[in-house]
Amino acid sequence: MKPMIFLAKPIPEVGMKLLQAAGEVKTGIARGTLFPDDLATRAGGCTGMLVTPAEPISEAILQKLPTLKGISNFGVGYNHIDVAACTRRGIGVANTPDVLTAATAEVAWALILACARRVVEGDRLMRSGKWAGWEPMDFLASPVVGKTLGIVGAGRIGSCVAKMAAGFDMPIRYTARSPKPEIEMHLGARRVDLPNLLANADFVSLHVPLSTETRHLIGERELAMMKRSAFIINTARGPLIDEQALVNAVRDKRIAGCGLDVYENEPSLTPGLIDFPNVVLLPHVGSGTLETREKMAVMAADNLVAMLQGHRPPHCVNPEVYDQPRI
Ligand code: NAP
Repeated sequence: MKPMIFLAKPIPEVGMKLLQAAGEVKTGIARGTLFPDDLATRAGGCTGMLVTPAEPISEAILQKLPTLKGISNFGVGYNHIDVAACTRRGIGVANTPDVLTAATAEVAWALILACARRVVEGDRLMRSGKWAGWEPMDFLASPVVGKTLGIVGAGRIGSCVAKMAAGFDMPIRYTARSPKPEIEMHLGARRVDLPNLLANADFVSLHVPLSTETRHLIGERELAMMKRSAFIINTARGPLIDEQALVNAVRDKRIAGCGLDVYENEPSLTPGLIDFPNVVLLPHVGSGTLETREKMAVMAADNLVAMLQGHRPPHCVNPEVYDQPRI
C-alpha cells in the first residue's frame, strides 16, 4: 500500500509529481490559513507531511499523528516546527537551504534600495497624479554607495547580501556565532558584536534564524543604539524585532525607516506600521521566484521521499533521529 502524504498547500508541479510517484497525496487547502486543529484532522493517518512556514507544528499536533515518520519543510527556516518533540518521537525533519539564498538576498537589497531612495513613496506620488515636475529640493534621499552595511547573522543569506554590496563600495560589519574568513578576506568584512554593529551601520540587515535566543533580538534598547539616519531591514523572521518598539522608533524619528518582508504576527501587522512613508512592506516574498520555488519543491519532495523510505533526508535538521536504532 502507498504511504499517505499530507501536503499542506500545493507546491510547484515538479515537486507534486515526485510526491505523487511516492505516495497517495492529500492536499490540506488551496490557499489561506490552515488552522492547527484542521491540519491535524486533515493529516490524520499520514506517514509524511510537507508544510510551509505558515503551518506551525506543535507537540499537540504530533500527538494526533502517530503514524508520522517525517516532516519536510518548504523553506529553510524551521522555527515553526517543534523539532525537539519530533526528535523525541523519531520523526525526521528536513528543510530547503541554499536554493533560496540568492532570491532572499535580492529581496533584502530591494528593500535597502527602496528605503534609501524612497522608491515606494515616489511611485505613490506618480500614481496620485500630483507630481508637478522636477524640483531641486524634492525627494531628497539617503545615498547607499560608501555607506556601512551591518549584517546580523552572516550565514548563507547574510553572506550573500554582503557579496552583493561589492558594487556599492560599502564597508561591512557582521555578527555570527563563528568567524566567516571568506567574507573577511574577499570583502574586508569585520566581525563585531551587535552593539558595535548597530552603532555604526547605516543599513542593518537581519539574517539570523528565529529561536528562543533570537526572539526580540532587536527591541527598544537595540533600536536606540542605531544612528538616527540608519534603516533596519528584516527578511529573516518577524519576531526577531519587537514590532511595537519598531513602530515607536519610526514614529519618534529615532531611526530613518525600515524595510520588512516578515512580521511578528503574520499575516497581521502591528497598528501604526502602515502609517509611515519611510516604512516599506513586502508580503513575505523572500524566496518568491518561480525558479527558486521549483528548486525548493524538488528539494522538499526528495527530502520527504527519503524519510518515507526510512532514510536520513539530504537536508536533515535532526540527524540524530537516523543515528538511533529504529523501534
Ligand atoms: P544560516 O546559513 O543558518 O545563517 C544564520 C546565521 O545566523 C549564521 O551566521 C549563524 O551563525 C547566525 N546565528 C544563528 N543563531 C544565532 C544566535 N542565536 N545568535 C546570533 N547569531 C546566530 O541561515 P540562512 O540560510 O542564511 O537563513 C537565515 C534565515 O532567513 C532563516 O532561518 C529563515 O528564517 C530566513 N529566511 C526568510 C526568507 C523569506 O522568505 N523572507 C527566505 C529564506 C530564509 P553561525 O554561522 O556562526 O552559526
